[in-house]
Amino acid sequence: MRITSPDSRRRWLLALAWALLCALMLALQWWQAHAQQQREQFQLTQIVQRQMLEKVAQHKAHLTALTAVAPLQATEESSALSRVAQSIKTIYPRIQEIQLVTPATPATGSCLVPAVAQAAAPLQARASTSLPDEQHAGDYLFIKKVASPSDWLCVRIHSAQLLDEQTLPANSGLRIRLNGHALLEPPPPLRQVRVFGQFTLAGYDQPLEVQLLTRPHNLLSWSMVLISVLLSTLLVGTANLIWKSRQQARRHQQRAQLLANEAQLAHASRVNGMGEMASGIAHELAQPVTALLSQSQAALRAHELGKPELLTTALQANVREARRAGAILERMRGYISNAPSQPQRLDLPQAVNQALLLLDGPARQAGIALRWQTPVQPCWVWADPVSLEQVLNNLVRNALDALSHAATPDANIEITLRTDAKQALLTVQDNGPGVDAATAQRMFEPFFTTKTDGMGLGLPLCATLMERMGGNLEYVHSPRGACFVMHLPLASDDDF
Ligand code: ADP
Repeated sequence: MRITSPDSRRRWLLALAWALLCALMLALQWWQAHAQQQREQFQLTQIVQRQMLEKVAQHKAHLTALTAVAPLQATEESSALSRVAQSIKTIYPRIQEIQLVTPATPATGSCLVPAVAQAAAPLQARASTSLPDEQHAGDYLFIKKVASPSDWLCVRIHSAQLLDEQTLPANSGLRIRLNGHALLEPPPPLRQVRVFGQFTLAGYDQPLEVQLLTRPHNLLSWSMVLISVLLSTLLVGTANLIWKSRQQARRHQQRAQLLANEAQLAHASRVNGMGEMASGIAHELAQPVTALLSQSQAALRAHELGKPELLTTALQANVREARRAGAILERMRGYISNAPSQPQRLDLPQAVNQALLLLDGPARQAGIALRWQTPVQPCWVWADPVSLEQVLNNLVRNALDALSHAATPDANIEITLRTDAKQALLTVQDNGPGVDAATAQRMFEPFFTTKTDGMGLGLPLCATLMERMGGNLEYVHSPRGACFVMHLPLASDDDF
């Protein structure tokens, strides 16, 4: 499986973290419950052992007491033993039978079984032993040799009552064995279950082997599982929220940093632009100012020499240079100023005719044909007449420059007009050397020029003026020469 987006990767990580947290919590709870169960079972085993030890000690004590009164049985107080035995049986219901077996009083019931005689026979005087009762399931016989070789005391004990009621919890049971024989087995559902405690009662001549059993139950309750799931969800959800808010804060910080960088950059580029502009102005104005100085000096000289014709020539040159300086400053102002143009509804062919009046002379002088067929139909556009003339003038002058330096045969500049649904497209195409790729990429940048006396503000100014009129200026790659297209919005009849 491929996880691609950072979002889905985060979702997978969250799900994994949630599952791990859940598992960890459940494992922790299980371990705690298990340890608690172990503690409880250990304590229960100790309680059971203490109770049973107490009981078997009592049996030993009863037999000792009975041994003391047994000799009276054969003499006058024949009922003394039976009275003591009776009171023992009444107080301790687990003791089912007590008998003194002598040749004179043969045993009855369980104590008559030959196995009992067989077990008692090898005993030393006052020694005791135990054996399972074959006639009564769950009982065992505790036998003590009294005096003569054939006398012994026999007590039958019900093993199920060796433990107080209510000692064991409901899901636990007890197994008791004596000499390998089962005295007590737990009820059927508990047979297959786990032994959690066992011991053998050493001493008191009743070597009972005891096992405590329990039915394993689920250590994890549904409520625990639910709590774990809820807690994990809460933790993972909170962690996710914290992570998200940190991410957001980091993004805000980055954005703020970016904005600060952009502001710094804009400031730097403004400073840079101003620097470039200042050096452009200085460079452009240097020439006319130098010319003004030298022509003024020449005029002074002519005046001193009394040569009015030289004075006139020098002053005329001064006027020309001053005009040139003024034109440069005017262009700069036009480019820098943010003044909105004032477009009006005008007939584009007429505006082109007007602009070309000024350009016809220079074209003729350079021997370049200026081709323009005035359309018969008017073409109404929204444009500022002064800006339009400035743009057209600049484009034609650039074409004239390119053609005069290239000495192209049949040099010409062709101006054509066409329209589409929304705009008029005025094309200025020349058959000069054209624009190479590097120049085409940069020629709309302010101060970019390939001319030695160029200022590099013509095209940027044209583009700005066109945009202010709601149109634009585009350079179109052409197989011959350079081709510029002016786009202007058409004016409808309703625009009067
Ligand atoms: P300038 O005329 O002062 O160089 P412009 O912004 O008007 O500034 O023109 C920038 C540059 O674009 C020119 O230097 C020239 O390399 C190129 N260019 C503009 N018009 C033409 C043209 N018709 N043919 C060839 N190159 C041109």
